[in-house]
Amino acid sequence: MGQCTYDNQIRLSPLIVIFPPALIDETILHEMAHIKHHHHRKSFWNYLSTLLGSDAKEKKLLYDMAISKYWELYTFVMK
Ligand SMILES: [Zn+2]
Repeated sequence: MGQCTYDNQIRLSPLIVIFPPALIDETILHEMAHIKHHHHRKSFWNYLSTLLGSDAKEKKLLYDMAISKYWELYTFVMK
């Protein structure tokens, strides 16, 4: 749904609009955190936790569970 390029451009799928606003916000913050940390190592998760105000790895598990409800529709529309 989102991507941060090597030159720090954030790209979002236009279909992100099918997801609830809270998931869109988390996606944007995730990609914004990649501007500072271009990886998923501990320093990335710590930084993202600061942006989210809670444990980012825990939120990622909840995010993945929440997003799975929409995944079939998302992949269908992306065809
Ligand atoms: Zn990432």
